[in-house]
Amino acid sequence: MELWQEMLRASVDSGKDLVDRFGFEPELAEKLNTLFHTRINPYYLSLIRYPGDPIWLQCIPDAKELEEDGFPEDPLAEDAHSPVPSITHRYPDRVLFLTTSQCSMYCRFCTRKRKVGDSGKISMKYIQSGLDYIAAHSEIRDVILSGGDPLMLTDTMLEKIVSGLRQIPHIEIIRLGTKMPCVLPQRVTQKMVDMLKKYHPIYVNTHFNHPWEITPEAKRACEMLANAGIPVGNQAVLMKGVNDDPDVMLELMRKLLAIRVRPYYLYQADITKGANHFRTPVSVGLEIMDKLRGHTSGLAIPAYVIDAPGGGGKIPILPQYVLGRNGNNIIMRNYKYEIYEYPDVEDEEKKVSADPQQIEKKYLRKRKSVQRKKTYKKEMVEVPAQ
Ligand code: SF4
Repeated sequence: MELWQEMLRASVDSGKDLVDRFGFEPELAEKLNTLFHTRINPYYLSLIRYPGDPIWLQCIPDAKELEEDGFPEDPLAEDAHSPVPSITHRYPDRVLFLTTSQCSMYCRFCTRKRKVGDSGKISMKYIQSGLDYIAAHSEIRDVILSGGDPLMLTDTMLEKIVSGLRQIPHIEIIRLGTKMPCVLPQRVTQKMVDMLKKYHPIYVNTHFNHPWEITPEAKRACEMLANAGIPVGNQAVLMKGVNDDPDVMLELMRKLLAIRVRPYYLYQADITKGANHFRTPVSVGLEIMDKLRGHTSGLAIPAYVIDAPGGGGKIPILPQYVLGRNGNNIIMRNYKYEIYEYPDVEDEEKKVSADPQQIEKKYLRKRKSVQRKKTYKKEMVEVPAQ
C-alpha cells in the first residue's frame, strides 16, 4: 500500500470520530454524517490551527448544513445535461467525465454533495459507457476527469481511462480536476506523473482556497506536476469565513504563482443544499477582484465567475472599469480610481442604442447565431459513416 493510501485509512470518517475528537452530540454527528459523509485525512487535519479557522470550516461538519432545506441539490443542472451516467455534456466541445465518487476529504461546501461519496451514483461500472459516448461524439475535443477526485483511482485504473481517451482521435486535451495537491499532496508521486506524461497534453486544475494550504508538501506536489510538463491551474471558491478578504486572497494568489500554479477561476459559491452558509454577497467578490487587479501581476488574477443556476454555464463578473462615453471617447477608471478617456474607433456596434428592447434584439440575434452553429455541428455528427 502506498503512503497516501495508508493516510486515507487513518482518516476521521465516522459520526463516532466527530463525537470523540470534536465533541459533537452523537445525534447531530450522525445526522451530519448521513447528509454528507465526513472524511478528513490526517494531512489536511494537521493544517487546522484552531477551531473554526479557515481550514476547519472547509472540512468539519457544521449544524448549519441541516438548516438549509429548500435549496437545490443539483444547482448547476448537471444531471439534466447527462446523456450517460458518468458524463455531463453542457458545452459543445468538452465534457465532464465523472470517474469515481470518492475524495480524500469531503469538502463541506461541495456542489456535488448529492453524488460525491455515493458509489451508487458515480461508479467504475459507468466508465466504459462514458468512453463510448466520447468516442461517438466527434465534436468533443476536451475531457475533464472529475468525480469525486480522479486521483483517488489507482495509477493502473487512471491509466486505463487516460489511455482509453488517448485512443480517441478527436480528443485533443485531457484535464484532471483534482484537489489532491491541496488536501493530500502525498498522492502526487513520481510514478503517477511519469505515467501521466505519456499522454500529453494533460492539464491539472486543482483547488486551493486559503494560503495556509500552501505547504512544503503541496509545493512539492505542484512542482512535480509542472516538471512533468503538466500545467496546473487553480479553481478557488469564495467562501464566508474562509477567504472573503482581499488580503487573504491576494496572499493566496501570490503563493500559488510561487509554487507554479496559475490562478484560473474564482467561483462565487453555488446555491447548494447544505452549503449555503458559505455564500457571500457578490459585492464581496467584486471588491476582492478590484483589490487584485493592478495591485499584483496579471498572472495572479483569476477570472471571477458565477456558475449560472440551472446550467447556464460560467458567467464572468468584473468590477466596473468602463464608466461611460463622452462622444466617441470611452471614459474609464484604472485600479487607482483615476479617470482616463480613450478615443474609440467608430463601428456599428457602438451605434446600438441603450434601449433595453434594442439590447434584447441584439442578444436574440447572437443567441440564434450560437444555436445555428450548434445545429450545424449536430448535423455534421449525425452524417452516417460511408
Ligand atoms: S474534492 Fe471536490 S468533489 Fe470532492 S468533496 Fe471536495 S469539492 Fe467535492
